[in-house]
Amino acid sequence: MSIKRSPISYNSARFNKSAAKLSQCPDDIGAEVAFAGRSNAGKSSAINTLTNNKKLARTSKTPGRTQLINFFDLNIEHTRIVDLPGYGFAKVPLEMKLHWQKHLDNYLQKRECLRGVVLVMDIRHPMKEFDQMMTQWCKSTGMPLHVLLTKADKLKKGPAQSTLLKLKKELTAELGDNVSLQIFSALKRQGIDQLSMRIDSWLLEGMEDEFDGQPEE
Ligand code: GDP
Repeated sequence: MSIKRSPISYNSARFNKSAAKLSQCPDDIGAEVAFAGRSNAGKSSAINTLTNNKKLARTSKTPGRTQLINFFDLNIEHTRIVDLPGYGFAKVPLEMKLHWQKHLDNYLQKRECLRGVVLVMDIRHPMKEFDQMMTQWCKSTGMPLHVLLTKADKLKKGPAQSTLLKLKKELTAELGDNVSLQIFSALKRQGIDQLSMRIDSWLLEGMEDEFDGQPEE
């Protein structure tokens, strides 16, 4: 078996499918990285900026898809980025929230090919309830976490840096080497390289694991 290590091109991301439950997700093989965040945190804009594709982000915002898990294929076979439903949408009945939570839980608990979570937060309002929930989940499962502090253009450089450092200290105390953080701005296209390098490392590491051993018969 020859292993082709092409660099991942995020521009190549293409919508694959939306899933309302685990059984509708693409086959659980390869490697994927999930984007999570509170509604309005800037998750779609971040994905859109990373992939340089406005249509892609819009896909997840299509009515009816906002509460689904959306899968985007990358140029390397069986590598994906995943847009998890934005948490905390207003005016949603409790029943629906619980359903959504169960659906997300199921995905997070059972998805074997999940390599890491990018947790998108508005840099002005970090670590809200949902963010704490995700952080704790990553802590308890050992899932690598990358915190994207977005809308950095809304703050001056000094306050943005001090938020980054403060959170880095707090989260590293909780999660150790399993967490990384960065500043991002979709508006200013700031932080794209850092983000893509982080995701690359997860997706490619996953491939090494898969291909390292003896080829399967
Ligand atoms: P989502 O609900 O998390 O997907 O959030 P969106 O990506 O739709 O963004 C929510 C709002 O924040 C929109 O009005 C965006 O234009 C705005 N927004 C997102 N990212 C940025 C950013 O980096 N800078 C600024 N100034 N606004 C942003």
